[in-house]
Amino acid sequence: MNRILIVEDEQHLADGLRFNLEAEGYQVDVVDTGEAALERLAESQFDVVVLDVMLPGMDGFSVIKQMRDNRQFTPTLMLTARGHPDDVLRGFAAGADDYLAKPFELPILIARIRGLLRRREWLQAAIHSQASLPGKTSRPSEPTGEFRFCGKLVSFDRLEIEVRGAKYPLTLMEANLLRYLIQHEGKPVSRQRMLEEVWGLHEDTDTRAIDNFMVRLRRYIEDNPSRPRHILTVRGVGYRFVAFPGDEERA
Ligand code: CA
Repeated sequence: MNRILIVEDEQHLADGLRFNLEAEGYQVDVVDTGEAALERLAESQFDVVVLDVMLPGMDGFSVIKQMRDNRQFTPTLMLTARGHPDDVLRGFAAGADDYLAKPFELPILIARIRGLLRRREWLQAAIHSQASLPGKTSRPSEPTGEFRFCGKLVSFDRLEIEVRGAKYPLTLMEANLLRYLIQHEGKPVSRQRMLEEVWGLHEDTDTRAIDNFMVRLRRYIEDNPSRPRHILTVRGVGYRFVAFPGDEERA
Protein backbone atom coordinates (compact mmCIF):
# COMPACT_ATOMS: atom_id res chain seq x y z
CA MET A 1 0.00 0.00 0.00
CA ASN A 2 1.37 3.40 -0.93
CA ARG A 3 1.94 5.80 1.94
CA ILE A 4 1.28 9.51 1.61
CA LEU A 5 2.35 12.25 3.98
CA ILE A 6 0.17 15.35 3.93
CA VAL A 7 1.64 18.54 5.32
CA GLU A 8 -1.25 20.95 5.72
CA ASP A 9 -2.23 23.23 8.58
CA GLU A 10 -5.82 23.89 7.46
CA GLN A 11 -7.63 21.27 9.47
CA HIS A 12 -10.72 20.90 7.29
CA LEU A 13 -8.65 20.56 4.14
CA ALA A 14 -6.32 18.05 5.80
CA ASP A 15 -9.28 16.00 7.04
CA GLY A 16 -10.90 16.02 3.62
CA LEU A 17 -7.68 14.92 1.95
CA ARG A 18 -7.15 12.13 4.44
CA PHE A 19 -10.70 10.85 4.04
CA ASN A 20 -10.59 10.86 0.24
CA LEU A 21 -7.08 9.47 -0.14
CA GLU A 22 -7.85 6.67 2.31
CA ALA A 23 -10.94 5.90 0.22
CA GLU A 24 -8.58 5.58 -2.78
CA GLY A 25 -6.61 2.93 -0.90
CA TYR A 26 -3.67 5.00 0.30
CA GLN A 27 -2.26 4.97 3.80
CA VAL A 28 -2.28 8.59 4.93
CA ASP A 29 -0.40 10.48 7.64
CA VAL A 30 -1.14 14.14 8.31
CA VAL A 31 1.08 16.70 10.03
CA ASP A 32 0.39 20.42 10.37
CA THR A 33 3.89 21.92 10.40
CA GLY A 34 7.03 21.62 8.33
CA GLU A 35 9.04 20.75 11.41
CA ALA A 36 6.74 17.81 12.15
CA ALA A 37 6.97 16.72 8.51
CA LEU A 38 10.77 16.52 8.65
CA GLU A 39 10.57 14.47 11.86
CA ARG A 40 8.03 12.10 10.36
CA LEU A 41 10.11 11.67 7.19
CA ALA A 42 13.18 10.84 9.27
CA GLU A 43 11.22 8.10 11.07
CA SER A 44 9.44 6.38 8.25
CA GLN A 45 9.24 5.80 4.54
CA PHE A 46 6.63 7.52 2.37
CA ASP A 47 5.90 7.20 -1.34
CA VAL A 48 4.62 10.73 -1.92
CA VAL A 49 4.57 13.96 0.10
CA VAL A 50 1.84 16.58 -0.42
CA LEU A 51 3.34 19.78 0.92
CA ASP A 52 1.49 23.05 1.44
CA VAL A 53 3.57 26.18 0.84
CA MET A 54 1.87 28.33 3.47
CA LEU A 55 2.56 26.79 6.84
CA PRO A 56 3.05 28.26 10.30
CA GLY A 57 6.76 28.31 11.17
CA MET A 58 8.87 26.83 8.41
CA ASP A 59 7.24 27.32 5.00
CA GLY A 60 6.93 24.67 2.32
CA PHE A 61 9.94 25.95 0.35
CA SER A 62 12.19 25.59 3.39
CA VAL A 63 10.79 22.14 4.06
CA ILE A 64 11.48 20.81 0.55
CA LYS A 65 14.94 22.37 0.55
CA GLN A 66 15.70 20.81 3.93
CA MET A 67 14.40 17.43 2.72
CA ARG A 68 16.67 17.46 -0.31
CA ASP A 69 19.63 18.66 1.79
CA ASN A 70 18.93 15.73 4.13
CA ARG A 71 19.07 13.40 1.10
CA GLN A 72 15.40 12.76 1.50
CA PHE A 73 14.09 12.24 -2.02
CA THR A 74 10.46 11.24 -1.66
CA PRO A 75 8.52 12.58 -4.68
CA THR A 76 6.88 15.78 -3.51
CA LEU A 77 3.90 17.71 -4.81
CA MET A 78 3.62 21.29 -3.58
CA LEU A 79 0.35 23.09 -3.01
CA THR A 80 0.95 26.65 -4.14
CA ALA A 81 -1.21 29.76 -3.99
CA ARG A 82 -2.99 30.51 -7.25
CA GLY A 83 -1.82 33.74 -8.83
CA HIS A 84 1.75 33.36 -7.57
CA PRO A 85 3.51 31.87 -10.60
CA ASP A 86 6.92 32.51 -9.07
CA ASP A 87 6.02 30.08 -6.30
CA VAL A 88 6.08 27.32 -8.88
CA LEU A 89 9.60 28.20 -9.97
CA ARG A 90 10.71 28.59 -6.38
CA GLY A 91 9.25 25.18 -5.58
CA PHE A 92 11.02 23.51 -8.51
CA ALA A 93 14.26 25.29 -7.66
CA ALA A 94 14.03 24.00 -4.10
CA GLY A 95 13.51 20.44 -5.30
CA ALA A 96 9.77 19.86 -5.76
CA ASP A 97 8.61 17.32 -8.34
CA ASP A 98 5.20 18.73 -9.16
CA TYR A 99 2.75 21.36 -7.96
CA LEU A 100 -0.93 22.12 -7.80
CA ALA A 101 -2.41 25.58 -7.25
CA LYS A 102 -4.98 26.08 -4.50
CA PRO A 103 -7.91 25.82 -4.54
CA PHE A 104 -7.89 22.56 -6.49
CA GLU A 105 -10.34 19.86 -7.46
CA LEU A 106 -9.80 16.69 -5.49
CA PRO A 107 -9.79 14.36 -8.54
CA ILE A 108 -6.95 16.45 -9.96
CA LEU A 109 -4.89 16.07 -6.81
CA ILE A 110 -5.49 12.32 -6.86
CA ALA A 111 -4.45 12.18 -10.53
CA ARG A 112 -1.24 14.08 -9.73
CA ILE A 113 -0.39 11.71 -6.88
CA ARG A 114 -0.98 8.77 -9.21
CA GLY A 115 1.21 10.51 -11.78
CA LEU A 116 4.11 10.76 -9.32
CA LEU A 117 3.75 7.12 -8.34
CA ARG A 118 3.49 6.09 -11.98
CA ARG A 119 6.56 8.05 -13.03
CA ARG A 120 8.53 6.34 -10.32
CA GLU A 121 7.33 2.95 -11.56
CA TRP A 122 7.90 3.96 -15.16
CA LEU A 123 11.50 4.88 -14.39
CA GLN A 124 12.06 1.59 -12.60
CA ALA A 125 10.37 -0.46 -15.35
CA ALA A 126 12.32 1.31 -18.07
CA ILE A 127 15.54 0.59 -16.23
CA HIS A 128 14.85 -3.09 -15.88
CA SER A 129 13.55 -3.71 -19.38
CA GLN A 130 16.52 -1.88 -20.88
CA ALA A 131 19.05 -3.51 -18.60
CA SER A 132 17.90 -6.94 -19.75
CA LEU A 133 18.42 -6.26 -23.47
CA PRO A 134 21.22 -8.40 -24.89
CA GLY A 135 24.08 -7.07 -26.95
CA LYS A 136 24.24 -3.59 -25.51
CA THR A 137 27.10 -1.59 -26.89
CA SER A 138 29.19 0.73 -24.78
CA ARG A 139 27.30 3.60 -26.34
CA PRO A 140 23.64 2.87 -25.94
CA SER A 141 21.06 5.25 -27.30
CA GLU A 142 18.77 4.06 -24.52
CA PRO A 143 19.91 4.24 -20.94
CA THR A 144 20.19 1.00 -19.03
CA GLY A 145 20.11 0.85 -15.27
CA GLU A 146 23.44 2.61 -15.50
CA PHE A 147 24.77 5.04 -18.05
CA ARG A 148 28.44 5.83 -18.26
CA PHE A 149 29.89 8.80 -20.11
CA CYS A 150 33.12 10.80 -19.84
CA GLY A 151 34.06 9.54 -16.38
CA LYS A 152 30.54 9.93 -15.02
CA LEU A 153 28.21 7.18 -14.00
CA VAL A 154 24.46 7.70 -13.71
CA SER A 155 22.62 5.02 -11.77
CA PHE A 156 18.90 5.13 -12.43
CA ASP A 157 18.37 2.33 -9.91
CA ARG A 158 20.01 4.12 -7.05
CA LEU A 159 19.00 7.60 -8.27
CA GLU A 160 22.49 8.95 -8.12
CA ILE A 161 25.30 10.22 -10.28
CA GLU A 162 28.95 9.54 -9.59
CA VAL A 163 31.55 12.02 -10.76
CA ARG A 164 35.20 11.43 -9.92
CA GLY A 165 34.36 9.29 -6.90
CA ALA A 166 31.82 11.75 -5.48
CA LYS A 167 28.21 10.59 -5.47
CA TYR A 168 25.33 12.99 -5.85
CA PRO A 169 21.75 11.93 -5.26
CA LEU A 170 19.19 12.70 -7.97
CA THR A 171 15.55 13.45 -7.33
CA LEU A 172 13.01 11.38 -9.21
CA MET A 173 12.40 14.21 -11.66
CA GLU A 174 16.10 14.92 -12.17
CA ALA A 175 16.59 11.24 -12.98
CA ASN A 176 13.60 11.15 -15.33
CA LEU A 177 14.76 14.27 -17.11
CA LEU A 178 18.30 12.99 -17.46
CA ARG A 179 16.99 9.70 -18.76
CA TYR A 180 14.93 11.59 -21.34
CA LEU A 181 17.94 13.64 -22.44
CA ILE A 182 20.08 10.52 -22.73
CA GLN A 183 17.38 8.80 -24.81
CA HIS A 184 17.40 11.75 -27.19
CA GLU A 185 21.17 12.07 -27.20
CA GLY A 186 22.44 14.49 -29.83
CA LYS A 187 18.99 15.82 -30.74
CA PRO A 188 17.52 19.13 -29.63
CA VAL A 189 14.51 18.75 -27.34
CA SER A 190 12.20 21.61 -26.53
CA ARG A 191 11.24 22.75 -23.05
CA GLN A 192 7.60 22.22 -23.90
CA ARG A 193 8.18 18.61 -24.96
CA MET A 194 10.13 17.88 -21.81
CA LEU A 195 7.37 19.35 -19.68
CA GLU A 196 4.76 17.28 -21.47
CA GLU A 197 6.66 14.03 -21.79
CA VAL A 198 8.67 13.97 -18.59
CA TRP A 199 6.40 15.75 -16.13
CA GLY A 200 3.05 15.27 -17.78
CA LEU A 201 2.39 18.84 -16.71
CA HIS A 202 -0.23 21.25 -17.80
CA GLU A 203 -0.03 23.82 -20.55
CA ASP A 204 0.06 26.72 -18.10
CA THR A 205 3.31 25.57 -16.52
CA ASP A 206 6.11 28.01 -16.98
CA THR A 207 8.72 26.43 -19.23
CA ARG A 208 11.38 28.17 -17.13
CA ALA A 209 10.80 25.33 -14.65
CA ILE A 210 12.90 23.23 -17.03
CA ASP A 211 15.75 25.73 -16.83
CA ASN A 212 15.87 25.27 -13.07
CA PHE A 213 16.33 21.56 -13.52
CA MET A 214 19.03 22.09 -16.13
CA VAL A 215 20.95 24.31 -13.71
CA ARG A 216 20.78 21.51 -11.17
CA LEU A 217 21.82 18.80 -13.64
CA ARG A 218 24.69 20.89 -15.01
CA ARG A 219 26.01 21.34 -11.50
CA TYR A 220 26.48 17.57 -11.26
CA ILE A 221 27.54 16.81 -14.79
CA GLU A 222 29.58 19.69 -16.13
CA ASP A 223 33.20 20.35 -15.18
CA ASN A 224 32.41 24.01 -15.70
CA PRO A 225 28.64 24.58 -15.45
CA SER A 226 28.92 28.03 -17.03
CA ARG A 227 30.53 26.48 -20.15
CA PRO A 228 28.54 23.28 -20.54
CA ARG A 229 29.74 20.56 -22.92
CA HIS A 230 27.09 17.92 -22.21
CA ILE A 231 23.85 19.80 -21.63
CA LEU A 232 23.87 22.41 -24.37
CA THR A 233 21.40 25.24 -24.73
CA VAL A 234 19.74 25.34 -28.12
CA ARG A 235 18.67 28.91 -28.58
CA GLY A 236 14.95 29.37 -29.09
CA VAL A 237 14.31 25.65 -28.63
CA GLY A 238 15.56 24.05 -25.47
CA TYR A 239 18.44 21.71 -24.82
CA ARG A 240 20.58 19.03 -26.39
CA PHE A 241 22.47 16.35 -24.53
CA VAL A 242 25.86 15.24 -25.83
CA ALA A 243 27.37 12.25 -24.03
CA PHE A 244 30.78 12.34 -25.72
CA PRO A 245 31.52 15.93 -26.73
CA GLY A 246 35.03 15.00 -27.91
CA ASP A 247 33.63 13.06 -30.89
CA GLU A 248 31.46 15.94 -31.94
CA GLU A 249 34.09 18.62 -31.40
CA ARG A 250 36.57 16.69 -33.59
CA ALA A 251 34.00 16.13 -36.34
CA1 CA B 1 -1.64 26.42 4.79
